Amino acid sequence: MRHLILILGDQLNRDSAVWDGFDPQVDAVWMAEVERESTKVWNHKARIVAFLAAMRHFAESLRQEDITVHYRRLDDPENHGDFRMELEAAVKKLRPQSLVMVEAGEWQVREDFRATAARLKLPLDEREDRHFMASHADFAKHAEGRKQLRMEYFYREMRQRYGVLMDGKKPMGGDWNYDSENRKSFGKEGPTLHAAPVRFLPDEITQGVMAVVEQKLAKHPGSLADFDWPVTPDEAQQALDDFIQHRLADFGDYQDAMWTNEPWLFHSRLSTAMNLKLLDPRDVIRAAEKAYQTGTAPLAAVEGFIRQILGWREYVRGIYWRFMPGYVTLNELQAHQRLPDFYWTGETDMNCLRETIGQTLRYGYAHHIQRLMVTGLFTLLLGVRPQEVHEWYLAVYVDAVEWVELPNTLGMSQHGDGGIMASKPYIASGKYIQRMSNYCAGCRYDPATSTGPKACPFTTLYWDFLMQHEPRLRLNQRMSMQVRNLARLSETEKQSIQAQAESIRQSLA
Ligand SMILES: Cc1cc2nc3c(=O)[nH]c(=O)nc-3n(C[C@H](O)[C@H](O)[C@H](O)COP(=O)(O)OP(=O)(O)OC[C@H]3O[C@@H](n4cnc5c(N)ncnc54)[C@H](O)[C@@H]3O)c2cc1C
Ligand code: SF4
Repeated sequence: MRHLILILGDQLNRDSAVWDGFDPQVDAVWMAEVERESTKVWNHKARIVAFLAAMRHFAESLRQEDITVHYRRLDDPENHGDFRMELEAAVKKLRPQSLVMVEAGEWQVREDFRATAARLKLPLDEREDRHFMASHADFAKHAEGRKQLRMEYFYREMRQRYGVLMDGKKPMGGDWNYDSENRKSFGKEGPTLHAAPVRFLPDEITQGVMAVVEQKLAKHPGSLADFDWPVTPDEAQQALDDFIQHRLADFGDYQDAMWTNEPWLFHSRLSTAMNLKLLDPRDVIRAAEKAYQTGTAPLAAVEGFIRQILGWREYVRGIYWRFMPGYVTLNELQAHQRLPDFYWTGETDMNCLRETIGQTLRYGYAHHIQRLMVTGLFTLLLGVRPQEVHEWYLAVYVDAVEWVELPNTLGMSQHGDGGIMASKPYIASGKYIQRMSNYCAGCRYDPATSTGPKACPFTTLYWDFLMQHEPRLRLNQRMSMQVRNLARLSETEKQSIQAQAESIRQSLA
């Protein structure tokens, strides 16, 4: 054998660099389902199934092209349970001259493969991941000489470079950003009638994976009862078409809104398909841009959606690789509380958290604002150690992969990086959740109250957070208004809030 081509579970694109120069006569593919990847954090069953089902479908499609695939299944009695040991065993058996792979998406996994190749004394040809629209070198060039990195400037460069929503050298419509038009909530009557997203019911291959997961990893969190994620490129394309046709037009207006029993609203559900590389971000962006050109969706919605992919998605990847491995250890706010147990069950009397966590455990999904301004906001205000929060997010979302999850969680949501990712901590009281959802209407707490038996824990902890971190927040211009509001509280009110916040912390310790 000449090359053994190593393909990881989130590298399922047939146009990746790993296929350059591939010759089925002398090269073969290696893929492995290893238990360690499902247990290093306590993974949601749906996340494990999405990865393994997509891998098995991909391997099957390669075999149909007469490509030799050495595939280790999770339930194979000889499975070593770990990438390194599996690869060593495969190399001893197959004796390739060299290993070829696209760089891994996770820092530690990349290190492990490098170390294993070195131990095996085999050359490892590690190739760039062309799925992304900004390479490491592109991001380094953008970051060069900047004191502070901000997504907005990176995004503008990407728009210009790829000519996306551009009118010559100017942004289409005159503005780079239509965010101010994209923050609507629903009225009392809730979201308008909208088509439910297309579902992909598990076929025989996926059902096989589900059976193994239910048997081998039975105690893992989450449910498989509603599993309907796309696990092939065809299904991913159908999911994209369905979103563009039925939900993109309202995506902008309601991207921050939340509503009971409405997990999807106008969101695309495309992150998992993109992260597994079943879908190319260029195709997603092109389809959205076309929807604007053909009048299917307004500019504000299309720009808002494209910004998430061409802007945020590429930007967080840049942050991850620029600041790893140190990034994962950062804890600028010195937060040391443990994660409340109810994050694994949803059993809490705080309605917004019960709804969001309940939905997460059921589907492995919550949209951005639920992640940022409900589950993330609560741990930030409570002062939970960001590494524990990171492990929870990595475990419970079907789309979770470290390069995108970590900067979003530790950086944007928990401000553990002190402002590398976002210029200010995303903090708010319960009133924000009241404004953007109907959660508070069904809750025993009152979002306008910060002390006493009906006080909303978000509101109590919000004021306490401002007091605790006042010296740091004062230095941040974007926080000055929130800090100034502290002056409205009397000393007695401040003390009552602090006492109530302390008792919340103790009850959740
Ligand atoms: C604490 C926290 C943890 C997160 N963890 C993950 C994660 O593990 N994996 C993941 O893919 N996204 C993560 N995100 C980003 C975002 O919440 C999800 O991408 C989005 O909710 C996925 O649902 P969707 O496909 O319906 O997205 P839509 O709302 O339809 O957005 C369209 C696409 O834009 C991209 N996108 C949107 N926001 C972001 C963002 N902040 N960073 C990167 N890409 C973005 C995604 O690819 C998404 O599919 C996280 C956000 C927060 C606040
Ligand atoms: S009152 Fe507070 S705890 Fe209850 S749903 Fe509203 S924000 Fe959440």
